[in-house]
Amino acid sequence: MISCNIPTPMRALAIGAHPDDVEFGAGATLAKWAANGCEVSLLICTDGSKGSWDPAADTAELVEIRKVEQRAAAEALGVSGEVVFLDYVDGELDAGIEEREIVASWIRKIKPDVVLGHDPWKRYRLHPDHRNAGQLAVEGIVVARDPFFLNDSVLPPHRPSELFLFEPEECDHLETSEGYERQKLNALESHKSQYVSTMGITKDNETKGLQDFRTRISEGLSAFGDLAGIGMAEGFKRIREI
Ligand SMILES: [Zn+2]
Repeated sequence: MISCNIPTPMRALAIGAHPDDVEFGAGATLAKWAANGCEVSLLICTDGSKGSWDPAADTAELVEIRKVEQRAAAEALGVSGEVVFLDYVDGELDAGIEEREIVASWIRKIKPDVVLGHDPWKRYRLHPDHRNAGQLAVEGIVVARDPFFLNDSVLPPHRPSELFLFEPEECDHLETSEGYERQKLNALESHKSQYVSTMGITKDNETKGLQDFRTRISEGLSAFGDLAGIGMAEGFKRIREI
């Protein structure tokens, strides 16, 4: 059974491993909720310092560029909450107790009704950061919710009502994206430093590359929408027992 479209939450927090991940996974949904009055916040776990195929790239500069791009992407989505960078080194994100407590503290601080994150149970996933960021979203909720965690914290426990996992191993919920595809693309295309490595857009084929990228995103949205015959959508594993 696939459910569709929850009422707009008051606050949502999307947790991504790298700058650009939440836009790929849930950009249209976040734009839609933001347009309908949801206070959307983003938590980016790593600094994105390995996001280049150029061995000569200045990685310190890349980190700063990716923050600027991420803020522009957040603006394209209409994000009115916080954009938080945890700055763990790209490729080296752990899902240990310390990282989990930091994520939980942000959940307590932001008090989201819905948390969104990578599906850590997606099979055959290669990138450790995506798996670990997903784990941190899941386990961060447990730490945020239960009163005997974070004993030194002044922040009271907070229990979100929903967890949406994007890139789901088992999709059981859709959010229609009609009217918000352009914002998702605008947000994704704000990550210009990722044109070559992630989006297949090179200087020589910029027009065609951009077109192909937009087609790829549209096809992804259609594929989810087709699961319930509802046009374009983003797909999630929805967890309500929190
Ligand atoms: Zn990523």
